[in-house]
Amino acid sequence: MKFHVMTLFPELIENVLGESIIGRARKDGYISLECYNIRDYSTDKHRKTDDTPFGGGMGMVMTCQPIFDCFDAVKKNIPDNARTRVIYMSPKGRHFTHEVAREFAEYDELIFLCGHYEGVDQRVIDAIVDEELSIGDYVVTGGEIPACIVIDATSRLIDGVLASKECYEDESVASGILEYPQYTKPRSYNGMEVPEVLLSGDHKKISRWRLEESVKITKERRPDLLLLHPEFEESLKPKVKKTRKRKVIDEPNEV
Ligand code: SAM
Repeated sequence: MKFHVMTLFPELIENVLGESIIGRARKDGYISLECYNIRDYSTDKHRKTDDTPFGGGMGMVMTCQPIFDCFDAVKKNIPDNARTRVIYMSPKGRHFTHEVAREFAEYDELIFLCGHYEGVDQRVIDAIVDEELSIGDYVVTGGEIPACIVIDATSRLIDGVLASKECYEDESVASGILEYPQYTKPRSYNGMEVPEVLLSGDHKKISRWRLEESVKITKERRPDLLLLHPEFEESLKPKVKKTRKRKVIDEPNEV
């Protein structure tokens, strides 16, 4: 999987995605990332990339020319038959979720356009963007942090990035519900103890405790998830033993 990011601030992306698990996955070749500085493609003598909005109003809008030329450079780095998607990070877009990350993980090349200021000229969106994508109902200053979130969450689903599939399948939301509380050593810290059951070595009991905690937390914080996945709560209910129906033999009529 290759990620291409068109941005005015490539260092922002490199700094976030150059560290930890994602940084290692890049070094090991499971994913790759290329940033394109939109300013490098500006033909303006001052390397300008924005201008005032037609019709008036606050702020600046990113202009067409540098973005179209930058996109041409991105296309040169993409093989002909690759499965690609061009995404403009925008508060007006579809909300990003785990399901969307799973969808994106199926592509070969994802191309991100990061806006800044008041955003980008609509003609860019109309001509090159497959979809606008939002990380939530709030506005941040640029598309770089939103793009990093999408790239990080999608990368985790690519084979080899995490140690195994269970690493992401068992996690909050991805599993269907929220995760149980986690504890590590020491057993006791400043008088705060780890729940006894986790020290019992009884894996059946531990699994049940974890499921109970997951259901409890999900009920409190995200009851909508439990409505989608009632099977988790169902599996905690005691199983009713099915009794075989007794055959009813008609009483002989009394004479
Ligand atoms: N004027 C725009 C509007 O009202 O829709 C907001 C522009 S915002 C200050 C600058 C850039 O940040 C956007 O072009 C977009 O790329 C990015 N951005 C801001 N909030 C975002 C969000 N919730 N999700 C994804 N991208 C976002």
